[in-house]
Amino acid sequence: MINVTKTYLPDINKYKKYVDKIYASNYLTNYGPLVQELEEKLKSYLGVKNLILVSNGTLALQVAYKALQLKGEVITSPFSFVATASSIIWENLKPIFSDIDPLTFNIDPAKIEEKVNEFTSCIVPVHVFGNPCEVDKINCVAQKYNLKVIYDAAHAFGVKLNGQSVLNFGDISTLSFHSTKVFHSIEGGAIIVQDDDLAKQIRLLINFGIPGPDRVISLGINAKMNEFQAAMGLCVLEDMDLIFQERKTIWENYYNELKGSFEMQVLHANGSNNYNYFPVLFENEEKMLRVRAALNAKDIYPRRYFYPSLDNLEYINANSPCKHSRNVSSRILCLPIYPGLDLNVQNIIVSTLKDNFN
Ligand SMILES: *Cc1c(COP(=O)(O)O)cnc(C)c1O
Repeated sequence: MINVTKTYLPDINKYKKYVDKIYASNYLTNYGPLVQELEEKLKSYLGVKNLILVSNGTLALQVAYKALQLKGEVITSPFSFVATASSIIWENLKPIFSDIDPLTFNIDPAKIEEKVNEFTSCIVPVHVFGNPCEVDKINCVAQKYNLKVIYDAAHAFGVKLNGQSVLNFGDISTLSFHSTKVFHSIEGGAIIVQDDDLAKQIRLLINFGIPGPDRVISLGINAKMNEFQAAMGLCVLEDMDLIFQERKTIWENYYNELKGSFEMQVLHANGSNNYNYFPVLFENEEKMLRVRAALNAKDIYPRRYFYPSLDNLEYINANSPCKHSRNVSSRILCLPIYPGLDLNVQNIIVSTLKDNFN
């Protein structure tokens, strides 16, 4: 069975060495030595100033909203994983969807302004499939109306824009290290913050508001990463060159085989690619479903990322339908891509797509 992704597992002996360290130190969580080591290594690997590890990418978003004391309405993308919007509601904020650019799949910066009103406190764009947003244009709108910007960068590990980390834009960026992502720590995530004081507050927020023994100085939650997660992260981080190289080969093979025949995401001209996903657009939903059925018959399971478009969710009373997001969502498939994906399997996927093209 071939799925859209397969979790990368590092050499087990490497992981065992870290587990031995954890057993020797008896230090399992609470900002332990491995979490500290992973934070330092990720800061230099990614090229960011303040990075706080957390237990998952959804809590990273929730803590970010709390840290910036958001109120009222938050403008976000309807074309994303459900956590982008559900985390907003969980924090008692109202998500307001602003439609995407149908070519880049990212929030269309030209449309954001229409959604701003006296209740708006923040914009939460998503670098969809790692494709950098138009950060300058988003920043202009934010400045004009005094709004915060939090990038859901769950897909953007290692991505650069104009030669620097895409995580350095906005007030905060959040990462997910879920095992389906390009870099993982089983479950996990990170909060990247520009402001040093805010970084200190976030450290408190993720640890119950406890700065040390006998003191509780603010409201907080438990969002700490543990040592076993950090150990996995340290092992995977060592193999990133290999992971990116293998993904790149698969990505380019798909691209060369399918370009011209299928619509694809238009990538930012000054952005780099982390080869996390390979989305393909079909002419319509019916054709997409036909190709999916043909692949499923061969035990190959691409995924409809992202379906449904979040403005369709019943528990969210969406302001107005986002037609581009709904349209892209209805006819997109993400093809299997992961280190170790067999070239023969890739050829079967490509030929199945081409056979069902007309
Ligand atoms: C994976 C993902 C999340 C959630 O991350 P978890 O670590 O699974 O909680 C949030 N936003 C987007 C866009 C994602 O793809």
